[in-house]
Amino acid sequence: MIADLHISDQQNLIGGNWKPARDGHTIPVFCPSDGKPFCLLAASSAADIDAAVTTARLEFAEGSWSKLTATARGRLLTNLANEISRNHDRLAEIEAKDTGKPISQAHADIDAATRYCEFYGGAADKLHGEVIPYLDGYQVQAIREPFGVTGHIIPWNYPAQMFGRSVVASLAAGNCIVLKPAEDASLTPLLLAQLAMDVGFPDGALNVVTGTGETAGAALAAHPGIDFISFTGSPETGVHVQAAAAQNHIGCTLELGGKSPQILFEDADIEAAVPAIIRGIIQNGGQTCSAGSRALIQTSVFDTVLEKLAAQIACLTVGPHHEDLDLGPLISQRQKRRVETYMTQSGITPVAIGCISETAPAGGHYVAPTLYGPIEPDLPLAQEEIFGPVLSCLRFTDEEDAIRLANATNYGLVAGVWTADGGRQMRMAKSLRCGQVFINCFGAGVGIELPFGGRGKSGHGREKGFESLREFTQLKTIVQHHG
Ligand code: NAD
Repeated sequence: MIADLHISDQQNLIGGNWKPARDGHTIPVFCPSDGKPFCLLAASSAADIDAAVTTARLEFAEGSWSKLTATARGRLLTNLANEISRNHDRLAEIEAKDTGKPISQAHADIDAATRYCEFYGGAADKLHGEVIPYLDGYQVQAIREPFGVTGHIIPWNYPAQMFGRSVVASLAAGNCIVLKPAEDASLTPLLLAQLAMDVGFPDGALNVVTGTGETAGAALAAHPGIDFISFTGSPETGVHVQAAAAQNHIGCTLELGGKSPQILFEDADIEAAVPAIIRGIIQNGGQTCSAGSRALIQTSVFDTVLEKLAAQIACLTVGPHHEDLDLGPLISQRQKRRVETYMTQSGITPVAIGCISETAPAGGHYVAPTLYGPIEPDLPLAQEEIFGPVLSCLRFTDEEDAIRLANATNYGLVAGVWTADGGRQMRMAKSLRCGQVFINCFGAGVGIELPFGGRGKSGHGREKGFESLREFTQLKTIVQHHG
C-alpha cells in the first residue's frame, strides 16, 4: 500500500531499486493550480537511461520475466489492477495535484489505468499466432514474439492512463520496459511502477527514468539497446523520435494529437449533440489529443447551434483541481502562453468566454473556455492543435463540403458525426481520413478496448484494444518440412 507515500524526492526505478540521477540533478514539480513547487524529480542524463536499458536487456535475456508464461504475466497485471484499485483515492489525489485536472477527472483516469491492467491482464494469454496453408509436406506457423526492450515516452496530459495504454500493453506482450514520463507530470507513472514492484514484477522488467525530453527522452529514443519505441506527444518531437528510431533500424508508434472535427448536420439531435461537443473540448482543459476542437456545423442550423454552444460555454468555470469545477488549469505557464498566443494572434473576437473562479490562486495556469465562430477554415484556429479549451466553429453547406472541410487539416485522429440519416452516417465514416469515428456520440480518449491512432500529422500505429498487443510483438514465420 502507498497510503503513507511521501511525494518528495522521487527517484528513478532501475532494476527494482530506487536511485537518484547519477549526477544528482533534480527538476522541481509544480502544481498547476497554484504554480508552487511541491516535490522533486530526478533530472536524468544519458548515463541513467543507459543503466536502465542495460538492466532491461539483461532481464529480457537472462531474467525471469521472459520465462514467465503469458498466463503468469496476465496474473501479475491483474494483481496490479487490484493494487491500483486499493490505492485509488491516493493515486487520484496525486494525479490531480500533479496535472491540475479536476479531481473527478483524476478518478476517471485512475479507473482507466485499472481497466488497462484488467484488459491486458486478461488478454496476455489470448494472443495467438497463425497456421498458414502451404505446400504439401510442409507445416507453416507465424508466431508472435515480444521485441525485447521497448522504450516509452509519454506526455503530461494523462500520465496514469498513458502508463496503462503504452506500458501495460507492452508488458502483457512480454517485453521489458524503459519508461520516460513527461517532466511536467511524472508522479503517477512512478507510483504505478512502485505498485508493480509490490505485486511481484521481476526487478528489471519495468524501469522508469525521469528527466527532460531534450536529455533523457532523446537519449532513450536514440539508445541502440531499444527494440521498439512508443511515443505520444507533439508532432515536432515525434519527428525526432522517428528519426532516432530509423538510425537504429527499429519501429515506433507515434501518437501526435489532432484537430478533430465534430460534424453536425441539420437533421441531428441538436440537444444531444451540443453538450457532447462541449464535453469533447473541455475535458482535461482541452489538453486531450482527441479533443473535438473543431465544430463543423451545417449552415442552415449554424446560428442556432452556435447560440446554444455559447450559452453553455458562458456557464463553465475553471478553477483549482480540488474544487472539481468544469475545468482545471493548464499544465504549465508555457502551455498557458501557447494557448493565449493562438487566441490573441488570431485577432478574432470570441463568441463566448467562460469564467475563471474567484478562488483560483494567482500563480495557477488558468485559461477560460473560449468559443469562436464562424471561422475561416485556413486560419490557425481551425488548422492547428491548440491543446487548450478553445472551440472553433466552421460552416459547411452539404455532405461533400463537410467531408472536404473535415479532411482539410494535416491531422487525422478522431471525428464525430451527428446526423439521423443512416446512409450518411456510414458514407461519412468511410470518407473521413482519421483513426476513429464516433456516430451520434463522442468520446475523447474513451474506450480502452478500442484501437486508437492517427493518420498524417496525427502519427501512425495503433494503441489500445487487442491491436496494441500486435503492435508490441513481431511475427516470426516457421516453415517445417515434414515430408
Ligand atoms: P513534447 O512532445 O515535447 O513532450 C512529450 C514527451 O516527449 C515528454 O515526455 C517529453 O519529455 C518528451 N520529449 C521532448 N523532447 C524530446 C526529444 N527531443 N526526444 C525524445 N523525447 C522528447 O510535448 P510538449 O512540449 O510537452 O507539448 C507541446 C505540444 O504538444 C502541446 O501543446 C500539444 O499540442 C502537443 N501534445 C500532444 C499530446 C498528445 O497527447 N498527443 C501530449 C502532449 C502534448
